[in-house]
Amino acid sequence: MSAIIIDGKITAAKIQEKVRKRTAALKEKGIVPCLAVILAGEDPASVSYVTSKKKALEEIGMEDREIRLPGSVSEAELLGLIASLNADPKVHGILVQHPFPRHMDEERIFSAVNPDKDVDGFSLASAGNLALGRPGFIPGTPFGIVHLLRDYQIPIAGRHVVILGRSNIVGKPMANLLVRRELNATVTVCHTGTPDPAVFTRQADIIIAAAGKPGLVTADMVKPGAAVIDVGMNRVPDASKKKGYRLCGDTDYEGLLEIAGWITKVPGGVGPMTVAMLTQNVADAAEDIHTLP
Ligand code: NAD
Repeated sequence: MSAIIIDGKITAAKIQEKVRKRTAALKEKGIVPCLAVILAGEDPASVSYVTSKKKALEEIGMEDREIRLPGSVSEAELLGLIASLNADPKVHGILVQHPFPRHMDEERIFSAVNPDKDVDGFSLASAGNLALGRPGFIPGTPFGIVHLLRDYQIPIAGRHVVILGRSNIVGKPMANLLVRRELNATVTVCHTGTPDPAVFTRQADIIIAAAGKPGLVTADMVKPGAAVIDVGMNRVPDASKKKGYRLCGDTDYEGLLEIAGWITKVPGGVGPMTVAMLTQNVADAAEDIHTLP
């Protein structure tokens, strides 16, 4: 048996095509969907994420308003900027790229974004809406993973999904999304406090690895035929590469090919979906609707 390779670029392109059409229709009505992206500091990974988001927005025909601030910017200044973007009717979505400089309170920054413009879905209001099954913005990575599973016709309802990682941006929203009635999965969340995650992953129909640990999921941890979604985006030093590093996920990709039923590419799996779902959320914000999971 050889795993079906899940190509996120293909699924993301389908979503982006729909968003492009919605954007064109909005523009005909005089509305230009606009995302304000705030980047504080020079974190290289953040700069690269912001660049790929900018490219995707431009390709779709949306306006990208990028605001770069020095890492020394005060929290009060950043909150003031968010308040002015909240009040700007031409701005439909606001994204504050994380991680933030150390002197800032992450939760306070995320929650300063008006929930109607919170296209990243990281505010307390958005997290609450997701957990309670109410309409609201769903973070791009978990939402994108659901789209990938559906596009590859991987059953979700009634299946056991094991998530490795409990972060507020991936693991927790992923779990909250999958247990909603629309998706109806049974979910187990493993984290650094789980003594032996393999006990759970071996029972999983779907494994979602979001721990940020290269090669964490090995063949002996996977039930034959299970779907493996690798969220990990780890920079591993590699002198043979021009950039001095290579990107790898949280799974032993080669080792899983013969056991998994499906496996995502890294890069080119979950990453492009995160960006595609962000553009969908911006279109939703401009139309004042919420696409259901
Ligand atoms: P994080 O560091 O905030 O959280 C990692 C989580 O993994 C923690 O909750 C921790 O408890 C858990 N964990 C650590 N070691 C573990 C282990 N051995 N077993 C089980 N759980 C373990 O990370 P994050 O922000 O959620 O990101 C996770 C990974 O996903 C990173 O590599 C990140 O770069 C990547 N990421 C990718 C995308 C994308 O679009 N592809 C988006 C967001 C994050």
